[in-house]
Amino acid sequence: MVSRPPDYCPRCGDGLETIAFDGRERKRCPTCEDVVWHNPVPCAGVAVVDRTTSGSEPAVLCVERGVPPGVGEWTLPGGHMEVGEEPETAAARELEEETGVAVDPDALELLDATTLAPRDGKHVMMIHYVVDRAHADGSPTAGSDATAARFWTPSAFDASDETFRPVHERRFRDAASLFG
Ligand SMILES: [Zn+2]
Repeated sequence: MVSRPPDYCPRCGDGLETIAFDGRERKRCPTCEDVVWHNPVPCAGVAVVDRTTSGSEPAVLCVERGVPPGVGEWTLPGGHMEVGEEPETAAARELEEETGVAVDPDALELLDATTLAPRDGKHVMMIHYVVDRAHADGSPTAGSDATAARFWTPSAFDASDETFRPVHERRFRDAASLFG
């Protein structure tokens, strides 16, 4: 299985042929006589929601992206699942790597699971969790892949000149309203 459409066999290096199989176009190695599967890549992320902010609006822990795609745009912490990892463990690990905030994976609640719009032929299936800040430890500090990490309320974000990464913006607002 590969994350982007393949041209060559990952096992023997031969050029692949295109065949119709199960009603879809597939890539097949004529030497190994096997289909090279191109499937979505699972990712997981978590929105940490703080309900104790001044005013009535909850704030959500966000990170400013330091690596492509979308450098300088804000998003929710998240990333690729590792082999052998449970999705909530992956979400908690990515949260800690990117923000320094630790959370018990068992405290995460499922928010949503969606397929993101493909980019450069890579299709991502994202599992989104949400957790109350009361279950999280530590102050936000920008870690790997992030240039900043902080809590934003939707209205404070709207009043700033910052940009939210479009594919995750609805999740940011949904997470805030969940605990509102
Ligand atoms: Zn092959």
